[in-house]
Amino acid sequence: MSLHWKVLAWMLAGVVFGLGLQRFVDGAPRSGLSLEATESGLVVMSATGPGAKSFASGEEFGAVIVARGSEEERRELLSSPSDFHALVSELSVGEVLWIEAGDELRPVTLDLDPSSARARWLAPFDMLATIFLSLLKMLIVPLVLSSIVCGVAGVGTMKDLRRLGGKTFLYYISTSLLAICVGQGLVNLIRPGIGADLGLSPAMAAGTREENFIEIFVRMVPSNIFEALTDNGAMLKIIFFALLLGVFITKAGAPHSERMREFFESFFAVMMKMAEGVLALLPYGVFALLVKVVARTGFAVFEPLLLYMGTVAAALLIHACFTLPALLRIVGGISPRRWFKAMSPALMTAFSTSSSSMTLPVTLRSVEERGKVSSKVTSFTLPLGATINMDGTALYECIGVIFLAQYYGSLPGGEMLTFTQQGFIVVMALMASIGAAGIPSAGLVMMLTILSALGLPLEGAALLLAVDRPLDMMRTVVNVWSDSCGAAIIARSEGETAVLDAGSSA
Ligand code: ASP
Repeated sequence: MSLHWKVLAWMLAGVVFGLGLQRFVDGAPRSGLSLEATESGLVVMSATGPGAKSFASGEEFGAVIVARGSEEERRELLSSPSDFHALVSELSVGEVLWIEAGDELRPVTLDLDPSSARARWLAPFDMLATIFLSLLKMLIVPLVLSSIVCGVAGVGTMKDLRRLGGKTFLYYISTSLLAICVGQGLVNLIRPGIGADLGLSPAMAAGTREENFIEIFVRMVPSNIFEALTDNGAMLKIIFFALLLGVFITKAGAPHSERMREFFESFFAVMMKMAEGVLALLPYGVFALLVKVVARTGFAVFEPLLLYMGTVAAALLIHACFTLPALLRIVGGISPRRWFKAMSPALMTAFSTSSSSMTLPVTLRSVEERGKVSSKVTSFTLPLGATINMDGTALYECIGVIFLAQYYGSLPGGEMLTFTQQGFIVVMALMASIGAAGIPSAGLVMMLTILSALGLPLEGAALLLAVDRPLDMMRTVVNVWSDSCGAAIIARSEGETAVLDAGSSA
């Protein structure tokens, strides 16, 4: 059986098994909080972390709001810890609980109780999934570093490098902008935020955080490259250093240029061989990951946000099934269907890991081996793309922010977004997608920056946390799909005729 069918079969098996566990094996939710009744009232403590810290106390009892569909949503005054435990046991894993104490409102996402039967069933799958993810993560930094250095040093002259770099960035920016336009069009058309029942209080002044996107570019320059190399989240820093290293290797002259280039080429080749080994584990890794995700999240979580999720999914579909294939066919002259088939291992890995960076080893192999794109193009474009080119994330930022703005705007006293603000969101969404790391939920974290710049409360984004995983899986697929289409289109424009040739194993 070819790899993509095998992975798909194991993926489906993972979903079915996960659903079975979710339905039939008891999995009590756990808030990670403990409550203590004191003289001054109810004190909510974080049960995790060193020296459990009281996060709210006061005259008033803590109140809990359950963010669900309108009928079930309620506010409860708690008078004892047992009230709280009773309330938690009625909810399901993944649901967000809002703890209100004093004037603070904090979201707590419910996790699986480790002592429940389901958690015990899941333990071996968790272990497998963790090992698989660690194997992928282990390869990220060495692959990014060596492939970019080889990519840059191997391009040849500065003129060639400028041409390739120019095309790559033109593709990244234009596809991300196209994605944002699709997202913005749909969210303004469907308007999922108007009157949505999210159980959030009307906009409290968000206290605009003084964070701007210029910082992303300032932070890109590493002050200590060895420190950056130890951090999978510091990809922009590593890319910056690798680009410079590549350029200066070509400038160092004989005998250093040749030696260094050979060293990095060999290093890269060995890393790719390792990636091939990890690829052999792909079906089982994907299985374990999906069991883990599906068995953990209850469907009740999705109810109030279904329209929002549908809008994101529809926009992602339009971008992935129409915009990018049109570019592939018209600009690259490549059959989108065949390219999709060739890329399927990478897309399925993206879906199960929710991370472009962790998918990179598989993307590199798929584009080179199955897509027959030269390593000159892949080693330059794909590692950059995994961090910088995120069409799915860009589109998601735009929809998420406008959705919350619609929601707050439709509450009494709220204001709708102006035309200028919508334009501002487009630019911010683009920057956020460039700045987001290729790791799970990075997009949601970036959304906080846009919300605070717009003066919207950050608690809205915390609510979206409950449904972030499935959306993250989908947008990561689109991110990786766009990276791979970019590599193919750029390879064609560089005169490569072997892309998807008859000998391809697709
Ligand atoms: N998980 C996404 C990625 O790695 C980033 C995001 O959260 O949008 O591509």
